[in-house]
Amino acid sequence: MRYTFFVAPGIYIQIPFCQSKCTYCHFASGVFPRELVVSYVESLVREILAHADAYFAAGIALPDESPDTIYLGGGTPSLLAPEELAHILGAVHESFPASTWREVTLEADPETVTSEKAAAWRAAGVNRASLGAQSFSDSELRAAGRRNRAADIARAVEILRAAGIDSLNLDLILGLAGQTHDSWRHSLDSLLALRPGHVSIYMLDVDGESRLGSELLTGGTRYSAGRVPDEDFQSDWFDEACAALALAGYEHYEISNWALKNRRSLHNSKYWQRAPYFGFGSGAHSFNGRERWANPHDPATYVEAIRAGRPHFEQRQRITPQMAFEEEVFLGLRLLDGIDLSRIERTYGVNLRTRLPYLLEAGAVALDGDVLRLHPARLAVSNEVFAELLQ
Ligand code: SF4
Repeated sequence: MRYTFFVAPGIYIQIPFCQSKCTYCHFASGVFPRELVVSYVESLVREILAHADAYFAAGIALPDESPDTIYLGGGTPSLLAPEELAHILGAVHESFPASTWREVTLEADPETVTSEKAAAWRAAGVNRASLGAQSFSDSELRAAGRRNRAADIARAVEILRAAGIDSLNLDLILGLAGQTHDSWRHSLDSLLALRPGHVSIYMLDVDGESRLGSELLTGGTRYSAGRVPDEDFQSDWFDEACAALALAGYEHYEISNWALKNRRSLHNSKYWQRAPYFGFGSGAHSFNGRERWANPHDPATYVEAIRAGRPHFEQRQRITPQMAFEEEVFLGLRLLDGIDLSRIERTYGVNLRTRLPYLLEAGAVALDGDVLRLHPARLAVSNEVFAELLQ
């Protein structure tokens, strides 16, 4: 089964392995034995090569368009041996022969980047790297359980650029234990001095799934929860970052993302545009425009399922028109380009204008003709806006 979609799909590949677990991390990642890494890579290659048959057997439709972006995320994909990475990307190229790859991103931890690896990544087709910098303060990095130090970040940027991977994203986290106004400003200035094409700033996620989050919710001192800055400070520092990035020429195009000209993340933009994406690897989610599904979460279970050739799709969910409408508003408004209210009304029969007076009066959104946007100065209240619009 095939059908036509309006934006080309993307491919996400999950590499769930890390050297150690950061205190704030709630991602599906961990430290695993080397034997599992080896069998995981083999399973990934098998899954990618056999995906069309597996989708067909499960009655899952494929969009007509060939994918044009690949994102290797994790976990720490940069821990893979270069030949393992080349093996995986080789399987993607073999499986999607009609594709022209516009963007191939590898997530990397700064301390894992070497000249040899960077050259091999470039040779395998990687043209963008996303570096988990997180902070330029060594004491914050240490408290967060990170392996990298500030000096590793500049070194990694230099190596990647020398290898020809000059499209770079740097991540920072706002709200790390021990962060102060001065240390935040130092991180921001250090990042700007490196002038990456793309910047992501994430607020510390507080949930019980990470050790730091759990300590923040239930108390304790082991992970320095008492040294996490107040939310009000975080909000002020976020605003300061917005101003500094704008001054440095970065376009704020999504709540947590900024880019220099032509450096928006093509792959991540697909999520906000509700384009299809195919996820390979443990816990990876997929979406074909009509339904979503996921692979087994646990890497060992995933390997076993692929080896046994069993159907391995979980959490299959058909997307109803109501769900599609809510996703379009929720995801579309994350982009500062906003959403087209007339298109929403034509597609879903919902007139959102009737829900706007309170939000407009509160200055939380801005309306420009048919285009509704979150107010750039009120991004911190985006959840309230989504709740009001999707009531
Ligand atoms: S390196 Fe990334 S994925 Fe791994 S534990 Fe740290 S934050 Fe989580």
